[in-house]
Amino acid sequence: MATDNNRFQAIISHCKEYGFIFPSSEIYDGLAAVYDYGQWGSELKKNIKDHWWKSMTQLNENIVGIDAAIFMHPTTWKASGHVDNFSDPMIDNKDSNKRYRVDHLIEAKAEELEKEGHEEQAEILLKEMDTLLAADDLAGLKRLIETYKINCSVSGTGNWTDVRQFNLMFSTQMGSVSEDANEIYLRPETAQGIFVNFLNVQKTGRLKIPFGIAQIGKAFRNEIVARQFVFRMREFEQMEMQFFIRPGTQKQWYEHWKQERMNWHLALGISAEKYRFHNHVKLAHYADAASDIEYDFPIGFKEVEGIHSRTDFDLTQHQLYSKKKLQYFDNDINEETGKPYGNYIPYVVETSIGLDRTVLLLLSEAYEEQDLSTEEKKDSRVVLKFPPKFAPIKLAILPLVKKDGLAEIAKDIMNDCKLHFKCFYEEKDTIGKRYRRMDALGTPFCVTVDHQTKEDNTVTIRYRDSMKQERIPIAQIKDIVQTAIS
Ligand code: ATP
Repeated sequence: MATDNNRFQAIISHCKEYGFIFPSSEIYDGLAAVYDYGQWGSELKKNIKDHWWKSMTQLNENIVGIDAAIFMHPTTWKASGHVDNFSDPMIDNKDSNKRYRVDHLIEAKAEELEKEGHEEQAEILLKEMDTLLAADDLAGLKRLIETYKINCSVSGTGNWTDVRQFNLMFSTQMGSVSEDANEIYLRPETAQGIFVNFLNVQKTGRLKIPFGIAQIGKAFRNEIVARQFVFRMREFEQMEMQFFIRPGTQKQWYEHWKQERMNWHLALGISAEKYRFHNHVKLAHYADAASDIEYDFPIGFKEVEGIHSRTDFDLTQHQLYSKKKLQYFDNDINEETGKPYGNYIPYVVETSIGLDRTVLLLLSEAYEEQDLSTEEKKDSRVVLKFPPKFAPIKLAILPLVKKDGLAEIAKDIMNDCKLHFKCFYEEKDTIGKRYRRMDALGTPFCVTVDHQTKEDNTVTIRYRDSMKQERIPIAQIKDIVQTAIS
């Protein structure tokens, strides 16, 4: 059985063994912090995407979705501040040559202090760090590391370089002739594709403020500390929504979206104790308020989603750099002045959730090792208790044996059900082994076709979580599964 400490490793191994997630280009020993989704991982990820997309663009009449390109005009990133500001303070250990993100190094020390029972000291350390980060005081951060005698985990020494800022954007060249080459960036967030299209969407969609634009897409960051599986990747996917509002209403909308997004998480069926908000002290260059939704991963409470009040920073900057007006005309009457609100640059509240971190969240919730031993025999199983809606396979159809016409009946069920949800047909191995395999993939329902099926058109349905089995008519299978996934 996996202990809390090795639960994370157990999930990583499980993902590889059962076709969820593989290290990228593994035959060449992998590429650090880059992962490929296998046959079941990509189904899981797609189900999450569909769920988020629907909850944003279908359930909210004033939110529409777009799909912008990864490559953007390089000036985008100058305007957005990413060229100058999108960096993390880093420090290198001179003996091991290992590079650390300063906040991670200090947070690890605070955790250590907490574990040793020095909670107060840990809290003071984190507060000091927040203040120094907010002031961009790099020398102060180094002094803090020295004062607390924080050492490198590899060399064990405190022989540190100065703290430096390290830009996280990847760049590449665009253009066929290298002399003409133009440096462009792989987008570090999907949000800018929304900002530069703000008026295109607003005008063509005849949208009235408040309205939102949602997008799912890849983002790239040259992360320095990248050893946490799909939690921190160099190529990852974000699901972002920018909500355009009247200036002055940002506080109220920020609170609204914080609550809405927390409700979305809780509606996944996850208990409230597994979540918490973390309000930022050091704000990104574009924000006037920011909060993370943190989930209790096997590696501790960590950010899964950010809610940011981005003010009118991005649109103002794009207006400045592009010299194109990015204003909205609001003809609603302002009760205070008795006149229309008129032209303004909208304010924005953003919700930004990592798709890969949501995959990891659902895996962490779902993964269970169960001891099923009885006095007579030892037994155990690994089960992924995904909510049926997210399960890669909804229904497995298993003929007890291949012969006697059972396979044909099972295939008929498969052909009928596969039009409605993802099914899986399997006739190899004993039924017990097939059940265990489906448990490991998180399949909520298995139906077994046996000789009685030929007589009375019933099958045995087996429920993943309870392992209970019961006989039901073939005609009921579809309804049971559809009710569970709707
Ligand atoms: P962190 O502090 O963990 O580096 P961040 O605050 O920089 O994250 P945001 O810029 O707010 O992250 O990005 C929004 C969301 O995108 C995050 O909440 C996270 O779920 C996801 N995300 C960001 N960086 C990564 C990454 N390297 N790998 C996977 N997901 C990421």
